[in-house]
Amino acid sequence: MSPVLADLIRAGLWLALATGLGWLLDHAVGALIAVLIVTVYLVSRHLWHLTQLIRWAKQPVGTETPSAVGTWSEAYAALRRRAQLGAEQREELGKLLDRFRQAAEVMPDGVVILDGHRNIEWMNAHAELALNLNSTRDLGTPITYLLREPEFLDYLGQSYPSGSLILRSARRLGQTLQIQLAPFAAGRSLLLVRDVTQIQKLETMRRDFVANVSHELRTPLTVVAGFLETAADGLADLPSDQIHQFLDMAGDQAKRMQRLIEDLLTLATLETDAPPQEESIDMHKLLAEVRDEAIALSGGRHTIELVDTGPAALRGSYKELRSALGNLASNAVRYTQSGGSITLSWGGKADGAAFAVADTGIGIDAQHLPRLTERFYRVDRGRSRETGGTGLGLAIVKHVLERHQARLEISSEPGRGSTFVAVFPERRVQTVS
Ligand code: ADP
Repeated sequence: MSPVLADLIRAGLWLALATGLGWLLDHAVGALIAVLIVTVYLVSRHLWHLTQLIRWAKQPVGTETPSAVGTWSEAYAALRRRAQLGAEQREELGKLLDRFRQAAEVMPDGVVILDGHRNIEWMNAHAELALNLNSTRDLGTPITYLLREPEFLDYLGQSYPSGSLILRSARRLGQTLQIQLAPFAAGRSLLLVRDVTQIQKLETMRRDFVANVSHELRTPLTVVAGFLETAADGLADLPSDQIHQFLDMAGDQAKRMQRLIEDLLTLATLETDAPPQEESIDMHKLLAEVRDEAIALSGGRHTIELVDTGPAALRGSYKELRSALGNLASNAVRYTQSGGSITLSWGGKADGAAFAVADTGIGIDAQHLPRLTERFYRVDRGRSRETGGTGLGLAIVKHVLERHQARLEISSEPGRGSTFVAVFPERRVQTVS
């Protein structure tokens, strides 16, 4: 039976009982009084429950419903269920929101939510970092008060900005940001921020590299073309020794281009992800080869000695290390005046082994040291060219050493000489039994 019907039956019974009793006591008057009393009681009871309900409704969400019997108990139970459902939905919604926040937090890009007046509503940690903002202090502030770069203000001023904006940040020097505004519901918009400093740097490096290579190739090519033209014009008139001289010069330039292309190919191979070959390198053999090559290159102009007290073997690529260590030795020969001396030394260290090339050559000013391993970086372009340099030698050395988890240390004093040391970690050293 429904609680409403039960309540009605109960009220009917009360009324019938009261009417009967009243009639027995004082006929019609008694019955009327009894009906009135029961009616007032029934109405007051409902009013009392109604007051309870209003009081409960004013309490915070989640307050326990009042207890009752009959219809009111049923009504309270229904309200309780509804409140519980509401609480569950709110919790679910809260969790969903948390998940969205967490997802936005771990996004690799910065995200800022702006309201219709461009006030900051929320931002993730990446946005804080990239835009140098504070996620507690700056909430509610118009973003245009905080980021004042004119290009940014122009971009944000458009109602539907198209594409993205590349912005050189005034708040962090040297930083480049890519900014994109995406409007969404109710005038709000999402500001996506990406730090593209590294990408821009790589792009500049790529452009510089192409420009450098073109320049390096153009010079010898121009010389060769010039010689060929002169020789062709005067083939019949020019004495043969002069023609030979032209051909030798053109040959030298061709060799220079060949060296450059070989070095570029070596760099390209080193830059592939494939790890170096892992072979057991006979260091005594490799070092003797490096010394002999240096002696040949010097042609007797320098005193060259090898002090080999280091481990007999290294693990790595013979070809790569032969080229890197040979490069250091040939640089010492090329940048040391006649009569100077060069010492190649190979020795063990507590945490590995080191190959050092010390020369008494021209030396290098301290300001150049951090840039020496950059491609095409040369202290004295003329001297490098005269001695057949491509400007890529130390870039190759650096790559090879990095691939072997080794590092290059350079110390130098202008006019006194330089020392280049390749330091290998212990795990590359092999003890040969
Ligand atoms: P390059 O082909 O010009 O020698 P590298 O990359 O081998 O190119 O070297 C870069 C520059 O570093 C050289 O141009 C030279 O100025 C300087 N350098 C390298 N080794 C020495 C050295 N032993 N003594 C003096 N300068 C050196």
